[in-house]
Amino acid sequence: MKEDIVGKKLFKTLSYETQLAWDHVSQDQLRQVFSFAEEYKEFLSLAKTERESHDYILTKAEKHGFVSLEKSSDKLRPGTKLYFSNRGRSIALVVLGQKPVAEGFRLVGSHIDSPRLDLKARPLYEEDSLALFKTQYYGGIKKYQWPVQPLALHGVVVLANGQRISLCLGEEPGDPVFCVSDLLPHLAYEQMDKKAKNVVSGEALNIIVGNLPYSEDKDVKERVKLGILKLLYDTYGIKEEDLVSADLAAVPAGAARDVGFDRSLIGSYGQDDRVCAYTSLAGLLDVAAPEHTAICLFTDREEVGSMGNTGARSRFFENVVAELVCRQTTDNASLKVRQALARSEALSADVNAALDPSYAEVSDKRNAARLGYGISLTKYTGGRGKGGASEASAEFMGKVRRLLNAHDIPWQPGDLGKVDEGGGGTIAQFLADLGMDVLDAGVPILSMHSPFELASKVDIYAAYRTYKVFWEPEK
Ligand code: MN
Ligand code: MN
Repeated sequence: MKEDIVGKKLFKTLSYETQLAWDHVSQDQLRQVFSFAEEYKEFLSLAKTERESHDYILTKAEKHGFVSLEKSSDKLRPGTKLYFSNRGRSIALVVLGQKPVAEGFRLVGSHIDSPRLDLKARPLYEEDSLALFKTQYYGGIKKYQWPVQPLALHGVVVLANGQRISLCLGEEPGDPVFCVSDLLPHLAYEQMDKKAKNVVSGEALNIIVGNLPYSEDKDVKERVKLGILKLLYDTYGIKEEDLVSADLAAVPAGAARDVGFDRSLIGSYGQDDRVCAYTSLAGLLDVAAPEHTAICLFTDREEVGSMGNTGARSRFFENVVAELVCRQTTDNASLKVRQALARSEALSADVNAALDPSYAEVSDKRNAARLGYGISLTKYTGGRGKGGASEASAEFMGKVRRLLNAHDIPWQPGDLGKVDEGGGGTIAQFLADLGMDVLDAGVPILSMHSPFELASKVDIYAAYRTYKVFWEPEK
């Protein structure tokens, strides 16, 4: 053999290159990649808030035979399917394994909240004959991306008598939408010189909601505001004080779309992190009789640090584990709960930043995830000197790698930008605090936290398969 061929062979054997996933799917799989994407887009378009996602997941789970713990028979058997709903905003689905929960479970945890504009407690005001809503942004956004964008209102309002009104306006073809205005270029000389973070101030993210004055009495001071109040009252029974007890948010209006001539990508609001929520849900619904108990957790509040009783830092998840353990044993139950947590393995299912060819300078090209190369395994998140993050061990990383390779699932290592460029976190650290082995595994995304995030269909399908085999490896 010629020496250069020997070298090439040796290089191929010893070196590592990530593979474009599209090159490694059969014709049959390709059809599945695209048909899976259709159902996923429906979910994205239907469920844009944590409440709507919770309800979607709960309905789907019930259809597949999941019941609440109270409704289940006393005895938990392998294959028993349960759900634990937490205040309509976070939820856990469980498929009981062959082994007792105290011997450890397999968890996939994602989050179902996304950045958005929340209404303030007293949102409605009138200025220059326009009615507007004051907002406060939720999560990390680039504020300049939110003006001149059709917005829909989603959420709930609790009336004075305690009745809860659900609202979703701006999604149906005939619905009105809402929007934040922006300056015309002609008068934006000063604005254009500002730093990007100051171009649109937080207090300028006001949503225009009307212009039609109440006409029956022209002596009223704020007739446009009154017109809106009357509409709110006539339509929903909502008075101004009711808006104090509300979770109302403005989110980008409209459905998820295919992107590209070849329709290989999906563009939508809120793929962080509903892409991992949906793919893990779909994966769990395929799980029948896992060896270890399979748990799928959907948390809230991740975009603001996971605080609060529906976030990953709450005791909700621990309580779920305690409920399961206590149904299986009364002996030393509190110790067994801790043992269950310490013997468990988790995938923190959250999106990762993909290499953007137009902004490649913020990424380390050799270590960034790329669209179309499969699910991204992120050993650590955080920033600077790995600050503020848990890190998966070599052993656990190795275990997941072996699992994915054995199932021929495309994956790639993906870090979060260049060292010292920025950083971010997921719920991984809070799961690790409980004692589990945790690895971040999710779909790479472009334009993360923007009103129109992009993901590749082949990566979405890889995520679905990853979560599924993590719970129940194929024979
Ligand atoms: Mn996320
Ligand atoms: Mn996020």
